[in-house]
Amino acid sequence: RHEPVGGVMKVAVFGLGYVGSVTAACLAAAGHDVWGVDVDTAKVGPITQGHSPVVEPGLDELVADGATSGRLHATTDPRVALERADVSLICVGTPSTPAGSTDLTYIKRAVRDIAEAAQTVLRPASGFHSIVVRSTVPPGTVDEVVEKVLADVPPPEGLTFGTAMCPEFLREGSGLADFYAPPFVVVGTRNPKVGTALTDLFGFLGRDVEVVDVRTAEALKYACNAFHATKVSFANEMGRIFRHFGVDSREVMKIFVQDTSLNISPYYLKPGFAFGGSCLPKDLRSVLHLARMNDTELPLLAGTLATNERSVRDVVDRVIAGPGREIALLGLSFKHATDDLRESPNVELAERLIGKGYNLRIYDAIVNPTRLVGANLRHVQSKLPHLQRVLTDDPSAALAGADLAIVSATDNAAINALLEAPPARTIDLIGRLGADVESLPGYEGVGW
Ligand code: NAD
Repeated sequence: RHEPVGGVMKVAVFGLGYVGSVTAACLAAAGHDVWGVDVDTAKVGPITQGHSPVVEPGLDELVADGATSGRLHATTDPRVALERADVSLICVGTPSTPAGSTDLTYIKRAVRDIAEAAQTVLRPASGFHSIVVRSTVPPGTVDEVVEKVLADVPPPEGLTFGTAMCPEFLREGSGLADFYAPPFVVVGTRNPKVGTALTDLFGFLGRDVEVVDVRTAEALKYACNAFHATKVSFANEMGRIFRHFGVDSREVMKIFVQDTSLNISPYYLKPGFAFGGSCLPKDLRSVLHLARMNDTELPLLAGTLATNERSVRDVVDRVIAGPGREIALLGLSFKHATDDLRESPNVELAERLIGKGYNLRIYDAIVNPTRLVGANLRHVQSKLPHLQRVLTDDPSAALAGADLAIVSATDNAAINALLEAPPARTIDLIGRLGADVESLPGYEGVGW
């Protein structure tokens, strides 16, 4: 628990998905007066009843605490949230358009909601309100999109707005820990008052706030995600070539990262399966789209994405190369400890194998089709409409009668069930089977 260093602020958090609900609950735990806003009642409803609307370790408890202490509220009405608020944090989705650009519709809507509320209810004591984008947006969005909406609906006399970009770096599955220990706290703004407001708001983190140019802050998040994705594709390419030589490439990379001249963290460098989720693929596509629009070639990043797509195809080819039609897929979300299925390579893999006539039984400890909401639910409905019929939370049930097990983003329960009753063949995508692997008939993972 923390107490706000610069005093209690009233904060409106727009968008209560993975980023917004963690942000709202953590700011409330820090002592701020937080109002979450979402257009989707499936997000607002749980928070008002003291539950998290998304699966994220520890978040349910934090939301319950916030509801009990009276510091965390949620509403679909922006005016209620904005009454006398000091800061708005915009955490709405910024999905890819079919062409790969960033869809800023939800950002524009949230800013317009704030500007319209300003006409009647938004009356902070200071006469100043900070509008801060935390969603990932291309450079120029705050200057050219947010400021334009505000210029169209100017604030009434006695109220001024200041805008900023403050990128969020949490990762799903470790969202709370990441929120409290971000790699950096960077604010892009040209308004010193916003810098001060955010220094007060995030003072409980005990970190210096680095104030930079708005576009630097916007670009920073893309640089981080493009680099993470490139690390994954690099490690996967090492795995893909050296598995032909019987090399355990995880072992190779474990030693590789010890090279002090590289000064590189081991994260994202474990050869395994494709990267996925709602950020890395979309943000990479967004950078590549910006490049196309500016007649700039980025062959490295284009290759990062191509390698990733190749990873899924390779697994399909390896399945086809062997016998058997009954498959147990262990792990469905893009990594363990999250139920986010958007752009999960495991969903993609399942869809392709089902399309080729394989019978799949899928184990996932967390994914519950009846609890999926919003974009996550829509994604599954379009890819695996019959998921409920083939999904189980019992790994032994998924493995019963299987010719082949594919070990993906899964947990120890699945590994133990697999070791107890191994099917004829196992493809290990995450190198979790370790030393016991030799005992599995038909094992062909080689730590890849
Ligand atoms: P999400 O899809 O889980 O949640 C977005 C929420 O915004 C939805 O609940 C939606 O209903 C709501 N929304 C849409 N329009 C709204 C409006 N006008 N007013 C209020 N609510 C509205 O998205 P997310 O995963 O939380 O990501 C949000 C942003 O943060 C994205 O730009 C993403 O790239 C970025 N980001 C995500 C992560 C992550 O790990 N998920 C990490 C860092 C940054």
